[in-house]
Amino acid sequence: MANHIEGRVLQRRDYRYESLRRQACWHAGVPDRHPEVIVLANNEDDVVGAVKLAREKGLRIAVRSGGHSWSGSHLRDGTLLIDLSNLRHVSVDPEAMTGTAQPGIKGSELSSMLAEKNLFFPTGHCTGVSIGGYLLQGGFAWAGRHYGPACMSVTGIEAVTADGERIHADETHNADLLWAARGAGPGFFAVVTRFHVKLYPRKRITMNSGYFWPASAARDVYGFVHEIGRRTPAEINLMCNRDPMTHDEPLISLNATAFTDTEEEAREQLSIFESCPARGRVLTTRLNEVTDTGTLSRLGTDPHYDETKRYLADNMWTHASFDDLWPNFQAMLRTWPPAPSHMVLYNWGGYEGQPERPPMAFSVEDELYYGLYAAWSDPAEDWRYTDWVTEHMRAWEPYATGIQLADENLINRPYRFLTDENLRRLDDLRTTWDPDGLFISWLGRPEPAANVSEDAPK
Ligand SMILES: Cc1cc2nc3c(=O)[nH]c(=O)nc-3n(C[C@H](O)[C@H](O)[C@H](O)COP(=O)(O)OP(=O)(O)OC[C@H]3O[C@@H](n4cnc5c(N)ncnc54)[C@H](O)[C@@H]3O)c2cc1C
Repeated sequence: MANHIEGRVLQRRDYRYESLRRQACWHAGVPDRHPEVIVLANNEDDVVGAVKLAREKGLRIAVRSGGHSWSGSHLRDGTLLIDLSNLRHVSVDPEAMTGTAQPGIKGSELSSMLAEKNLFFPTGHCTGVSIGGYLLQGGFAWAGRHYGPACMSVTGIEAVTADGERIHADETHNADLLWAARGAGPGFFAVVTRFHVKLYPRKRITMNSGYFWPASAARDVYGFVHEIGRRTPAEINLMCNRDPMTHDEPLISLNATAFTDTEEEAREQLSIFESCPARGRVLTTRLNEVTDTGTLSRLGTDPHYDETKRYLADNMWTHASFDDLWPNFQAMLRTWPPAPSHMVLYNWGGYEGQPERPPMAFSVEDELYYGLYAAWSDPAEDWRYTDWVTEHMRAWEPYATGIQLADENLINRPYRFLTDENLRRLDDLRTTWDPDGLFISWLGRPEPAANVSEDAPK
């Protein structure tokens, strides 16, 4: 095929095109959007070949690393999709506490490799998420409050530009491209083929406590977490979902995790949860268990993500009082969709001692983070659950400071994900780095017409 691409190049008419398109989206709700060509890259030269091929064919470019974008942001009509899922090389320099990782590697795989060397990188909460899209959009991680969004730990990138050129960007070379790569997410205008990252010593202790309540305790539990979330160094994952333990009624589970060097310190951090005003109404607890993030993912978070279901996610950053959020939450509790649909609340900002943010596109965050996820099976119910998620998050807009691209629902509910200043700067940089508008950007944003030749050889 053209441009000496070693990997597969599939056009819409080709056998296996459709299975590769479907595999490019992790859940069953694969969007009805069709790239014209899919290039399954084997190496960095294939990425260069794919960019040139897109120009020749007059196609815009979309990029997939792991395909965990809920909205299938990378599946777009009339594009050439560069699939990087085979670019998975990792290197670690334990002395320098640095590493490199290609975008197709999963965060959980990277984390296990590092654990063997007693090292740590802030990877996401679920097992299957690749680092490509995760790092570009920010990266909301285990122990993330301590290290900041994971993109802060990216010190450089190797990328292929819209000209098909391979370049390096760090804080001294092409610094504006690194600035953009730390937070632009699906609005990034080059292909990252490798990340250079900072690594950290692994904390000796990961300790977790879990509390489970019926939904009747919701107001007290949520009010408590809104009040103490900023103060405690422990990481809180407050989840609401339908559960057999409460006869298929919503269940509230609080999972608090401490990352420390001693068991004593971890117990001390977790002790604050004993003062929850709903403590007496708890159904069951698991207290002060020494564990690891792999186990927490496998047993705690992964069961909520079933790839055979269709999903829609939405989210908000907030520092509102829970009293303001309660009326809409009450309405949600009355109509909660079937499992594994769920909502998470994490504590995040305002944590004492949180690291200073470097210059980066990522610029909207707040004290608390709500993510809402509906899961269902029947395509005929797409409208029902899309409405349920979108309208409930819309009802909270007066209390939201913005959204995170990790769980974006921009196609149904466009909302602020960068500061205005950073969005303007990103748009200016896009004009410089991608003057022909070759790369697609965020869903829900009108796309400029690509200035690529229609008459170029096919
Ligand atoms: C089950 C599940 C759990 C999740 N858990 C977390 C979590 O704990 N923390 C968190 O922060 N997020 C989480 N997410 C969100 C996830 O991080 C984002 O959806 C992220 O984009 C997924 O990375 P990916 O490589 O699969 O991206 P993809 O779906 O492959 O790509 C998404 C977009 O990113 C861009 N992109 C991807 N790779 C590249 C590249 N190499 N070069 C240029 N552009 C690229 C493209 O524009 C593409 O449209 C979760 C998502 C799911 C489905």
